Amino acid sequence: MEVETKGAKVYTFGAGDAEGDRSMKALLGGKGANLAEMSSIGLPVPAGFTISTEACDYFSKHNGRWPHGLKEKIAEGVQYVENIMDTKLGDSEHPLLLSVRSGAAISMPGMMDTVLNLGLNDDTMEALARHTGNERFAYDSYRRFIDMFGDVVMGISHSKFEKAIAEIKKKKGVENDTDLDIDDLKEVVDRYKAVYRKETGHMFPDDPYEQLQFAINAVFNSWDSERAVKYRRINQITGLLGTAVNVQAMVFGNMGDDCATGVCFTRNPSTGENKLYGEFLINAQGEDVVAGIRTPKNISELQKVMPEAYDELLTHCTRLEEHYGNMQDIEFTIQKGTLYILQTRNGKRTGTAAVKIAVEMVEEGKIDNQTAVKLLVQPNHLDQLLHAQIDSDSIDEESVLGKGLPASPGAAVGHVVFSSEKAEELASDDYPVILVRIETSPEDVGGMAAAEGILTSRGGMTSHAAVVARGWGKPCVAGCGDIVINYKKKQFTNGSKTIKEGDWISIDGTLGAVIDGKHEVVKPEMDDDYYTFMNWVDEYRNMGVRANADSPEDSARAREFGAEGIGLCRTEHMFFGEKRISAIRKMIISETDEERRKALMTLLPYQKSDFRKIFKVMGGLPVTIRLLDPPLHEFLPEGTDEQKEVADNLGIDPQKFADIVRSLKEFNPMLGHRGCRLGITYPAITEMQSRAILEAAVELKQEGVAVLPEIMVPLIGTPQEFHSQKMVIDDVAKEVFEQTGDSVEYKVGTMIEIPRATLVADQIAKEAEFFSFGTNDLTQMTFGYSRDDAGKFLKIYLEEGILQHDPFQVLDTEGVGRLVELATQKGREENPDLKIGICGEHGGEPKSVAFCYKQGLNYVSCSPFRVPVARLAAAQAALE
Ligand code: PEP
Ligand code: MG
Repeated sequence: MEVETKGAKVYTFGAGDAEGDRSMKALLGGKGANLAEMSSIGLPVPAGFTISTEACDYFSKHNGRWPHGLKEKIAEGVQYVENIMDTKLGDSEHPLLLSVRSGAAISMPGMMDTVLNLGLNDDTMEALARHTGNERFAYDSYRRFIDMFGDVVMGISHSKFEKAIAEIKKKKGVENDTDLDIDDLKEVVDRYKAVYRKETGHMFPDDPYEQLQFAINAVFNSWDSERAVKYRRINQITGLLGTAVNVQAMVFGNMGDDCATGVCFTRNPSTGENKLYGEFLINAQGEDVVAGIRTPKNISELQKVMPEAYDELLTHCTRLEEHYGNMQDIEFTIQKGTLYILQTRNGKRTGTAAVKIAVEMVEEGKIDNQTAVKLLVQPNHLDQLLHAQIDSDSIDEESVLGKGLPASPGAAVGHVVFSSEKAEELASDDYPVILVRIETSPEDVGGMAAAEGILTSRGGMTSHAAVVARGWGKPCVAGCGDIVINYKKKQFTNGSKTIKEGDWISIDGTLGAVIDGKHEVVKPEMDDDYYTFMNWVDEYRNMGVRANADSPEDSARAREFGAEGIGLCRTEHMFFGEKRISAIRKMIISETDEERRKALMTLLPYQKSDFRKIFKVMGGLPVTIRLLDPPLHEFLPEGTDEQKEVADNLGIDPQKFADIVRSLKEFNPMLGHRGCRLGITYPAITEMQSRAILEAAVELKQEGVAVLPEIMVPLIGTPQEFHSQKMVIDDVAKEVFEQTGDSVEYKVGTMIEIPRATLVADQIAKEAEFFSFGTNDLTQMTFGYSRDDAGKFLKIYLEEGILQHDPFQVLDTEGVGRLVELATQKGREENPDLKIGICGEHGGEPKSVAFCYKQGLNYVSCSPFRVPVARLAAAQAALE
């Protein structure tokens, strides 16, 4: 018996039946799995079959060959569709026409290829004309097919076909395609075939099975196209086999004025409002809506022009939303008054919409709050929800350059660029850019990712720019018809003002406004839905979330965002400010211990008062304060003029000062005289800081304010280092408690940020009461990548796929994560009560938070703005 090769099977659907279901996304892709699901629950889905992602995987690995047996299965699939549709592929009486579409497990809008109207040739085109009684439609479909097939399958530039039709229109003296008559369209078809022949050296293939084979291969190949690879990289999509291919009977939205095609969301994807939201075009094919070529009509208009189809659509939308327990993004076509559903998927939405939809669907009894927390809001939605907006007070009417669609909320400010290449080339923290395009295409994803925001002059809310930007949470104003873009001159104008490449503009994706110049942005407000949702989040979360904060203001913000303590207070950040910096400089240039202690004593009151304020704001929640960490030269001026000025202020000889600065310079400061090495060489620093912390704590306790100080020693590599610092701290504590006649509970622990510390974590845990993983340094030292210099090569590493993620953003679970795991295990073996957290940048990154949860960490700590994100990520990890 012959063994079937993996990937040879196809999965049919149609007429209320299906071989697959929605759980099979990995194998059938999102589109295929949902087509099967919709068909089996009885929705009007045109019959078809799905070729699996395993087939694509086989194709990629076997030099473009199909798995053994796939050809026969495809023929059977076609037969299945033919039976249901009562037509036949290539038949000169009742021809079946097919659409061939890609669809991976994770949606990649517009990234891969689609071929429509497959099966047309001179014969079937005639039959189509006869059968529909619409010759014009038949010719139009045929010429679209040749164009699409030529472009997508054979790689002939679409512009070559455009040129041909433009010449015919010019000869006829007409402007629109719709002004061409049947004879003209016949000529268009002939010209298109000639273009095809010239470009490929072959006749246009008449055999529908040959067409189908080519089209399937094109979809498979599109998985590895440059733009698709880039999109997956930017969106960190990994681990997929490939794309599935959906072959489905065509239905037509362009047979006449009783036909339409559209896209709708079951709720508003921008605001979350519970109302059908979408766009449609009468007498058009699906691609016309998303391509942004014709400006579509609001879905509410459909109720007026096709009330029956509209009602039916509404019923199916409600059914789908309830069935999937999530807001749906649905594509539909109406052919001669009959409604077909072509696709459904969970709709992409803004942060505001995500939270509102989650809360309302729970209130409507459609889902429970656990599902809402687990599935309906992504951590980055919260990030987006907390996005800044442009301060409306700073905008006058004069500066508004135009209004477009509010395609993706948030404010962005940057320099104008007109191409994605320019955006990728120029964009940086110091030179933010706004990408301005007539419309975007999948080729633009690199530039869109690099830009702060996107502005297009054409296209609707479901145009490529809008969909992609919304998915990324990037501000976007789409379809701003008020401006005219001239790529050649590198400028756009609104009739009165001209904006050139490099000029500053601001865009507000919430309002759809385009504004001249650079404007201030303001932080958003959180509404009742947000608080309701976050309460549910905390119901399911069992790992703590703290914040990294160094000031009373940041601490207050951290609490507002729901932090349950401070996981890292970097004390060096408290040393800036004129008087303080001068005191620390005095300390640095001190030549004797006595001088150093004297200088430090002037710093004590500042530190103490800061700690008092922070403790007060945190009201008894744990506050982890880290002793001084950075190399001392960071506090000294670099330039000679500045050095002279500082020397004068400090009253010392400028030459001597310059010598001291020079003597402090290190070849590799990140691995130099920093962290606990400072406290060990200058114990007076540790003494002063511990005293400031403990005196502040005792004072507050006496005033009736609860305090929970945790003193953290940085950059420990050996247990002896920790021991030496703990002795100093404990001695100071004794003194302070004796002097004040009172005491407070305090903990002494350490950062784990040097690989060696992870290896000897059990020894360190004998004395340390807590660990906090400093994964910034731990990543730096594990990879051997300098935190300050890695940017130069990481970009290339990511582009070449040498690294999947920037390890300073997403915790490297395979390497750095192993060390975290090891230290956690060893530390807890020695001391089962050891409290363990993380305070590197990874503490606010969802994937890394999930990893920390798996390791059994007690808490993660991140910047105040990331706290809600970390809370949700922690709850989702617990619900996994
Ligand atoms: C770390 O290294 O992860 C850390 C939190 O400390 P810093 O970034 O201050 O070095
Ligand atoms: Mg560090």
